[in-house]
Amino acid sequence: MRQLNETTIIGRGPAGLLAASLIARRDEKCLIVSDNQGSLGLWSANFDFYSPQNTIRDPWGYIESFPIKISRTQWSNLWSIFSSILKDAKVELNPIPEHNLWTITCTGKPKSVFMVPKWQYVSSHLSEVIFIGFEGLADSMAALQCENYKNLTGSNSSYYQIPKPSQYSNSWGSLRWASYFDTDEAMKWLIPHLRKAVGGLDTTWPVLLPQVLGRRFVEKNLRLLRKVLRRPVFEYPLLSPSIGGLRVQDRWEWSLRQQGVGFLTGKVTGIAPGGLISLNDGRSWKTDRIITATGGVLGGGVEIDPYGKAYDSTNPTKTGLVKIEKDIQIQWESSPLEDLVITAGAQCINWNPNRDSNGGAMILATVAKGLGMTKGSRQNNEF
Ligand SMILES: Cc1cc2nc3c(=O)[nH]c(=O)nc-3n(C[C@H](O)[C@H](O)[C@H](O)COP(=O)(O)OP(=O)(O)OC[C@H]3O[C@@H](n4cnc5c(N)ncnc54)[C@H](O)[C@@H]3O)c2cc1C
Repeated sequence: MRQLNETTIIGRGPAGLLAASLIARRDEKCLIVSDNQGSLGLWSANFDFYSPQNTIRDPWGYIESFPIKISRTQWSNLWSIFSSILKDAKVELNPIPEHNLWTITCTGKPKSVFMVPKWQYVSSHLSEVIFIGFEGLADSMAALQCENYKNLTGSNSSYYQIPKPSQYSNSWGSLRWASYFDTDEAMKWLIPHLRKAVGGLDTTWPVLLPQVLGRRFVEKNLRLLRKVLRRPVFEYPLLSPSIGGLRVQDRWEWSLRQQGVGFLTGKVTGIAPGGLISLNDGRSWKTDRIITATGGVLGGGVEIDPYGKAYDSTNPTKTGLVKIEKDIQIQWESSPLEDLVITAGAQCINWNPNRDSNGGAMILATVAKGLGMTKGSRQNNEF
């Protein structure tokens, strides 16, 4: 039997990590158990608020329609807390904006985003930029990206495709590119090309590079490039797996370990009354509280049918009847598990981040509600 832990969080996606950060801030013990990485490494860590039509309309105006009702002031506090948690993990974010901002995808399409790490390009206006592509890097086709962007925006942007570095081999994926950029060699290769690329162009036009400028040293590289080129320099997001998300995950998990949060690899197959958690390899332990943040993309997660029947990846043999509250917590009816299990993240019903572009808000709202940080919830603990 393992030592008793105050809270066991099942899932290592953004919802699980956020729950762990909030619990660690209360100086309470917690353990994260997961059978896999969460989804964060698949996306570029733009934490979306709400943008169903890909516009930069004010997402604050739509909070009344969200599945969890949280006031504007509370939303503002929650985004600030989220931002400060990531800052503690050494991920600097742009200030929480008044409305969505534009970033530009690798196909040249403007995409509206909300809370974004500082390495990524965001702007409230779609104006001239200089796209840089790296030959040999998938999804980095600057000519096509620039043409699409110019057609969509009418801007007079420019592009430059840089030939492969001498070390390049056909096996390089975005992760290998990122580790190349963690070496000084890469900057020596890049800078002369960038000098050519920007020659004669207006110094206010930002240079946009593919999001592979180092898994660890992106900030150092961007600082150097801005100094040498004397103009703004940022990254644009690539397709999955995304280095931006991996960077956030690396740093966030490192920060949680520093705060004493434990990590365990394993698949949870049972949650029994009394808080007994068991894994498929036979390990088990008792816990005072359980947060299931098991997602729905990679790891299965809880599905709840309209009659309240739950199918839970943590308990494949036994499904239970659950009472679905408006606040989306699950209470296991007529069982001592009531008040013991909190559910958070993508497994919660009524949210559809693919349709509404509200993945960041969903994580924030469900975790905060589950932990009693929002007005009117069962527990109302202060943070
Ligand atoms: C490709 C992609 C792009 C996205 N882009 C954006 C975006 O641009 N902006 C945005 O805001 N959001 C984006 N999202 C996020 C998404 O919409 C959700 O917000 C996010 O996936 C929810 O995270 P989660 O922590 O709830 O679950 P997940 O990240 O899916 O994590 C689930 C965790 O639970 C673990 N698990 C599951 N079952 C078990 C078990 N039985 N035992 C142990 N562990 C278990 C898994 O191993 C995993 O660690 C994107 C997601 C994907 C996949």
